[in-house]
Amino acid sequence: MKAAVVTKDKRVAIENKTLRPLKHGEARLEMICCGVCHTDLHVKNGDFGDVSGVILGHEGIGVVTEVAEGVTSLKIGDRASVAWFFEGCGHCEYCNSGRETFCREVKNAGYSVDGGMAEECIVTADYAVKVPDGLDSAAASSITCAGVTTYKAIKVSGIEPGQWIAIYGLGGLGNLALQYAKNVFNAKVIAIDINDKQLALAKDMGADMTLNSKTDNVDEIIQQKLGGAHAAVVTAVAKSAFNSAVNSVRAGGRVVAVALPVDTMDLNIPRLVLDGIEVVGSLVGTREDLREAFQFGAEGKVVPKVTMRPIEDINTIFEEMEKGQFTGRMVIDFKHKA
Ligand SMILES: [Zn+2]
Ligand SMILES: [Zn+2]
Repeated sequence: MKAAVVTKDKRVAIENKTLRPLKHGEARLEMICCGVCHTDLHVKNGDFGDVSGVILGHEGIGVVTEVAEGVTSLKIGDRASVAWFFEGCGHCEYCNSGRETFCREVKNAGYSVDGGMAEECIVTADYAVKVPDGLDSAAASSITCAGVTTYKAIKVSGIEPGQWIAIYGLGGLGNLALQYAKNVFNAKVIAIDINDKQLALAKDMGADMTLNSKTDNVDEIIQQKLGGAHAAVVTAVAKSAFNSAVNSVRAGGRVVAVALPVDTMDLNIPRLVLDGIEVVGSLVGTREDLREAFQFGAEGKVVPKVTMRPIEDINTIFEEMEKGQFTGRMVIDFKHKA
């Protein structure tokens, strides 16, 4: 089978690979599609260490073609996910308290184990989340990573219906955060970006207020007009966005960090203490979060923007990604072979 394999020289080679036989509890998926994520770019560039030889891909959707002994959660013909949270140990304090993505023994698809950017993939059946009927596979692939990450972040923000949430960065992640915040949590959304085109799109998608941080004094405007947001979610990869988020929330507000700039943020201690601000990180989502995120997708509440590409385009896609040349998600299509 064809697979997208990370090479020593930080590229991706399309290699012919043969999968090993299944072990107890595993399932074989024939892949339908697999999204290409910014994290894949970091992985193939060796930013998280050298993982040459691994098959990329953690936004995969495939059809179950074989199940090993002990599998009860999936059956042949089901569609299921290959996610960044590929498997936890199942017995630590995180796994047993609804925080499995923080498991210290976690396995990550397309990084520490072979992922879904291949014609076939082996998954641990109990950790592969079933895709509900009525949800398109390409949309499901985006929800497997960007969707569940933003859905979880909005959940972590504790936002309630009618409250104001500030979303920093309206790119691939922020756009889905906006849809979950509006259409699932029924919150009022302030969309903040440096790109007017993204802000216009956010407005079309229902943002209640849009601010351009290049020209607007974002936190001052939010404090003046609304008395501060109830929560903020930061998907923009800029330190300034994190600092602005802390200043934009009202007393008791919560700032949820999703983007991952390698940097430190300023946190004014009197502001933190006197106003009871909370700052928390949020990492992808659990299996249950993904199941919920899929369901809202199936109900049409969240619609990811995707473009299908052949696997042969993978290095071109990474070049385009590095230059910021596309919006929405590029998804490798394994069903229409080039
Ligand atoms: Zn991803
Ligand atoms: Zn664990």
